[in-house]
Amino acid sequence: MSRPYRRRLPFNLALTVSAPYITPMSHSKFKDNFPNTLWSALSRGALLKCPRCSQGRLFQSYLKPVHNCSNCDKKWDTVRADLAPAWASMTLSAHVIVVVYHFFFFDAPIANWITTSALIAIAALISLLSLPSFKGLFMALVWWNRMEAQQG
Ligand SMILES: [Zn+2]
Repeated sequence: MSRPYRRRLPFNLALTVSAPYITPMSHSKFKDNFPNTLWSALSRGALLKCPRCSQGRLFQSYLKPVHNCSNCDKKWDTVRADLAPAWASMTLSAHVIVVVYHFFFFDAPIANWITTSALIAIAALISLLSLPSFKGLFMALVWWNRMEAQQG
């Protein structure tokens, strides 16, 4: 007499589902500084701080995230913002230079090459200044929604 076949979840899949929910709660620093809202996490990321604990730095250089948070040990290798920060900074700089062009250059008796150079410089400056904040913001969004990559 054979036993009836029972369907079970594969062991590894069960670990994958449970691990992200169990591991952080057992961490002592997790409960104190964990963000209460999405906006809190986003603002921490935009200020280049670890969205999870708000203490450690998120980037080790201009756009390179740290491997692990120095304070809460959260692994940031697997959290990727991909092209979202570039899209956001381009959108921001485009809107700003359109306004600048409209109010300062449209009717002004200024040579075209000066106008073009100034607008390119303004756009580049805004992009370079806003890119790390947008990357931190989108990394916080990816982390908050548990959309991290499975491997670094
Ligand atoms: Zn941290």
